Amino acid sequence: MRVYISVDMEGISGIVDWSQVDFRKRPQEYEACRRMMVGDLNAAIEGALEAGAEEVVVADSHGRMSNLPPEEVHEAAVLIRGSPRPWLMMEGVDDGFDAALYVGYHSMKGTERGVLCHTISGRVVDAVYVNGVEMGEFGLNAALAGWHGVPSIFISGDAAVVEEAKELVPNIRGAVVKWGVSRYAARCLNPKRARRIIREKAAEALRGVDEIKPFRVEEPVEVRMRFLTSTMADAVAIMPYVERMDGRTIKMVYDDYPTAFRGLRTAIAVAYPVEER
Ligand SMILES: [Zn+2]
Repeated sequence: MRVYISVDMEGISGIVDWSQVDFRKRPQEYEACRRMMVGDLNAAIEGALEAGAEEVVVADSHGRMSNLPPEEVHEAAVLIRGSPRPWLMMEGVDDGFDAALYVGYHSMKGTERGVLCHTISGRVVDAVYVNGVEMGEFGLNAALAGWHGVPSIFISGDAAVVEEAKELVPNIRGAVVKWGVSRYAARCLNPKRARRIIREKAAEALRGVDEIKPFRVEEPVEVRMRFLTSTMADAVAIMPYVERMDGRTIKMVYDDYPTAFRGLRTAIAVAYPVEER
């Protein structure tokens, strides 16, 4: 059995603030937090191995994507780190995997009690809709795994992201490691206890892998994006195949989901620098 794990940082147990996930803000705090990140990840790897995984590929998927200290990642796993890379948080996923797991994920922008909630780029994106359904990073990434025929079977993070994932994949196994009080505050389980839950749920998920279907979106795919400012939509509306819907919203239609994913990423890259003046 081959298992793919995408690891973000905002949904790791104990993390509640941007300064904890950005090495430029409070380096010592970040250092401690990337160790918590590797702790949650290794718990998921151990659970997967217990349930029969023979190969584990891990994608470090936060910020510049080189947060995990390689020597501390479970030695059974191959680590994908660094950026840029075409498929971002899902780099390396393909039809050879039996399951995709998501560790340390967070909810979409605007979620009530969603710890550190945002959608891909908090500086650019207000909302993303795929075929009319608003999606956060879990949905956008699970659809990529699903396009390759890989089911999304496990997620860890706060209560809000587990709920968000269940809206799209009702029988996904979720490990809740904290409960948001606000966007920047949470009731957190002790990391050791959180890891025990992650390990158990990840193992349980892999044992039940056949019960979960890949999450696929209908093709052709319509992506609508609302930006934080109209300037961003002005810039993105110049791109081919992009239609302006209103002041801050654009629409793109693509034949297949991977191309739609690339369109979405490119739009964010185009919008990102426009307010820097
Ligand atoms: Zn992140």
